[in-house]
Amino acid sequence: MGKRVKKKQRIRKRQRKAPPKKKLKFAHAIWKLYKVENGKIVRLRPTCPKCGPGVFLADHGDRFACGRCGYTVFKAAAASK
Ligand SMILES: [Zn+2]
Repeated sequence: MGKRVKKKQRIRKRQRKAPPKKKLKFAHAIWKLYKVENGKIVRLRPTCPKCGPGVFLADHGDRFACGRCGYTVFKAAAASK
């Protein structure tokens, strides 16, 4: 008579491991771009002519590049002027 019906065993899913916390990186080292000399602010990086004076060009060793519009100036060309 009594057919034994096996109960479906619930397999516990392993709990997902929490993703490793990303190390905080300094997004913008703005304080490195400015220097105060005799009460005047001196910008240590060239600014982008396309984006305006508020956007700095990133130093890539041999060239300066704008991260916003892609404007690139090679140091060799800038030094010759
Ligand atoms: Zn730009």
